[in-house]
Amino acid sequence: AQEGILRRQSARESAARTYARALPIVPVRARGMTIEGADGRRYLDCLSGAGTLALGHNHPVVLEAIRKVLDSGAPLHVLDLATPVKDAFTTELFSTLPSGLAERSRIQFCGPAGTDAVEAALKLVRAATGRNGMLAFTGAYHGMTAGALEVSGGAQDVRVARLPYPQDYRCPFGLGGPRGAELSARWTENLLDDAKSGVPVPAGMILEPVQGEGGVLPAPDAWLRRMREITAARGIPLIADEVQTGVGRTGAFWAVEHSGVVPDVMVLSKAIGGSLPLAVVIYRDDLDVWAPGAHAGTFRGNQLAMAAGAATLAYVRENCLAERAATLGARMISQLRSLAAAHPCIGEVRGRGLMIGVELVEPGEPGVPRALSASVEPVEAGEPVGAVELTVAGSGSACGGTEAGGMLTAHGDVTGNRGPENMPTAG
Ligand code: PMP
Repeated sequence: AQEGILRRQSARESAARTYARALPIVPVRARGMTIEGADGRRYLDCLSGAGTLALGHNHPVVLEAIRKVLDSGAPLHVLDLATPVKDAFTTELFSTLPSGLAERSRIQFCGPAGTDAVEAALKLVRAATGRNGMLAFTGAYHGMTAGALEVSGGAQDVRVARLPYPQDYRCPFGLGGPRGAELSARWTENLLDDAKSGVPVPAGMILEPVQGEGGVLPAPDAWLRRMREITAARGIPLIADEVQTGVGRTGAFWAVEHSGVVPDVMVLSKAIGGSLPLAVVIYRDDLDVWAPGAHAGTFRGNQLAMAAGAATLAYVRENCLAERAATLGARMISQLRSLAAAHPCIGEVRGRGLMIGVELVEPGEPGVPRALSASVEPVEAGEPVGAVELTVAGSGSACGGTEAGGMLTAHGDVTGNRGPENMPTAG
C-alpha cells in the first residue's frame, strides 16, 4: 500500500512540495515525537509539523479538547461569531501575553496560516499609520503570500527597506557578536534619520526574535531592545513575528520575553492551534483603526483549532514547559557542540531553548554549507534518544527563499518527549 500511495501522490502533486519528495514515508499513526509509516516502521519526527506540535503528535489533552467540541454538537464553522470555545481560547491566549501588551490588546483572527496573519499585520500598521513603507531584515521569512514575501529575505520591493539582521560569523559587517548588532542598530537609525537615505518614515518594522527559516539565528536581546527604542522614538509600530518562536519553544512562552521587549503587534500561528490551522494578530488597542469588515476571510478561527490551541497553551503554561525547553535546549546544544567538535561535517550549532539549528558543512570548511539529501532511518522502540538522530531523521531547509544552505533545524516539541512508548500498536 505504501508504494502505491507514494507513486500516486508523486504523480499527482506539484513539484513545489518539500519533504514528501525525498522522504519515502507514508505516516499513518503518530504519538509524541514518533510517527509510524504504513509499512509499520517508526521514525522520530524532527519536522514536528513545521513547529506546530508543541506537545508532539496526538497529545491526550489536545485530543480530548477536540473530541469535547465534536461531541457537544457545537457548530464547527461560524465565521467570527463569539462562541464559548473562542472565549476560552482568547482568555487562555491573553493570559500568556507579555505584560504591557496583555492589558491593552485586541485580537484579529486571520487564517488559517501564518502568512495570512503576516498579511493582516502589514495591512493593519499601514492603515493605522497612513504610511506605506516597511522595515524588514536580511534572512527573514514571513510566509509565501505576496505581502509576506515582500518582507522576507532576498525579496526586492520598493516599499521595503532591508536592514542587516545581526548574525555571528555571517555578520554583514564582518564583525559578529555585540559589535555587529550595534552596527545593525546604527545602520537602522541612519536610514531613518538621514534625509539623504530617501527612506520615508515607514508604517512598521517586522522582525523574528529568532530567525527560523533564515537559519535559526537568535537575535541578541540588547539588539532587540535597541530596535524597540528606535521604533518607539519614531512612532513606528514594531511587529514581532512569533509564528515559529512562540508557545515555549525558545525557553520563554514568547521569544520577545527574553529581552523584555513589548512589541506593538504580534503575529501568531503554528503551535497556537495545537496542531490545527489557526493564525491571529494581537495588537495594541489604539492601532485598532479597522472598520467592521475591513479585514475578513472565510476561515477565521476554526472552532476545533481554537479548542486544540487553548488546551495546548494551558498545558504549556501549567506544566512550565517553556522552562523545560530552556533546560533541555541548553543540554542539547551543549551535547551537539561536543558532537560538532568531534565531527568536521558539523559547523555551528546555535539556538535558543529547543529551537536549535545544526549547520552541516563541507568537512573541515566551517561556513561552507553542505547540500543535503534527506535520508531517514527507522528507530527501534525504546532506543535511547541521542542528538545524532537529528542528523539522520531530519531534512534540509524547509522553505524556499531560505539562506540557510545546509541547515538542519530541529522542530522538536517543547515537551522534549519522544513518546514511542505511548505509540498505539499497528492495526
Ligand atoms: N513567519 C514565520 C516566522 C515562519 O516561520 C513561517 C512559516 N515557517 C511563517 C511566518 C508562515 O507561516 P505559514 O507557513 O503557516 O504560512
